Amino acid sequence: MKPNIKNIAVLTSGGDAPGMNACIRAVVRTGIYNGVNMFGVMQGYQGLINNNIIPMDARSVSNIIHLGGTILKTARCLEFKTEEGMEIAFNHLKEREIDGLVVIGGDGTFTGAQRFGKKFGIRVMGVPGTIDNDLYGSDFTLGYDTAINTVIEAIDKIRDTADSHDRLFFIEVMGRDSGCIALRSAISSGAEAVLLPERETSLDELINQLEIGAKTKKSSSIVIVSEGHKAGGAYDVAKKVKERFNHYDTKVTILGHLQRGGSPSSFDRILGSRLGYAAVNELLSGNSMQMVGLFGNEIKATSIDEALTGHNFKLESDLLEMTKVLSI
Ligand code: ADP
Repeated sequence: MKPNIKNIAVLTSGGDAPGMNACIRAVVRTGIYNGVNMFGVMQGYQGLINNNIIPMDARSVSNIIHLGGTILKTARCLEFKTEEGMEIAFNHLKEREIDGLVVIGGDGTFTGAQRFGKKFGIRVMGVPGTIDNDLYGSDFTLGYDTAINTVIEAIDKIRDTADSHDRLFFIEVMGRDSGCIALRSAISSGAEAVLLPERETSLDELINQLEIGAKTKKSSSIVIVSEGHKAGGAYDVAKKVKERFNHYDTKVTILGHLQRGGSPSSFDRILGSRLGYAAVNELLSGNSMQMVGLFGNEIKATSIDEALTGHNFKLESDLLEMTKVLSI
C-alpha cells in the first residue's frame, strides 16, 4: 500500500557537484505536482541540526537549472555523526511532520542517511551527487560529466601552449580514491599517459610510454595525474621524470577546485532532473533507504547498503588499455 506522504525535505551534502540544482528543482516540482508540501534544508545535515529548514514552492526553484553549486548550500557536519546530533536533527523534522527526506551527495552523505534512516525509521531516498563517480548503483553520478568537460577544456588550452614549445605537461585532476575523471579526461584530450589511484604505474612504464612518442617526433606530451596516485601528485611525478627524461621542458598544472564549478552540462541537467523526479516518485510509492541511479539509459533504485558496499569498483580498465594504444 502506498504511504500517505504529506511533507518531504531535500538537502545537498558533502562536496558540491554541478547538476545538484537541476535535481533540487526536479525534487521540489515533482513533490508539489503530487500535492506534497516541500522543504529545503540549508547546508546539508548541519541545517537539520540548526533547524534551518525552509518551505519551498515551484517558484523557489525557478532559474536554477543552469547554475553550478547548490542553492541549498552544502556542509560537512561532524555533529550529525553523533547520536545526540542525529536526535536533534530528527526532532526538527518531526516538528514539521516531515515524513520523507531526499539526500543528494556522495558516500559520506549516504553513510549518514543509512544510520539516520535505520535509527528513526524516516523514509530516505538518495541521489548520487559527486564529481568523482565513485558510487556503486549508478553508471554516472551527478556532476561527473560536467567536471570532465571542464577538465578537457582546460587541457585543450594547455595542449596549444605545450605544442608550441615542445613541452611535457603534467596535469593533476581531482579523484583521491577514484581515477574516473582522470581516465575519461585522458581519452577525451588525447593525453599520452594517465596515472590513476587504482593502478600502480612504475616510472619505467611511464617513461617507456613517453619515449615512444619522443622517438616518433611528437611535439608535446600530456600526462594526467589523478590526485590520489600512489607515487605522488603531479609535482612529484614531474620531478622524477625530469631526472631521466630531460630533453623536454617539463611543466605542471594543478587544476584544483575549478573542476567542481561551472554551469552543468546538458547530460548533468537531464540526469539531475531524472534522478530528482525518480527519487520523489520512489518515496511516494513506498520505497525507502534506496538510491536512484542510472543503469544504461534507465533509472533504477539500489539499496543504500548496496550502494555503499559496492563503492569503488568502477574503473573502466578497457578504457585504460585503449589510452595506451591510441596515444602512440
Ligand atoms: P560526501 O557525501 O561528498 O562523500 P562527506 O564524506 O564529507 O561527503 O560526508 C558528508 C556528510 O555526511 C558529513 O559531513 C557528515 O555530516 C555526514 N556523514 C558522513 N559519515 C557519516 C557517519 N558515519 N554517520 C553520520 N553522518 C555521516
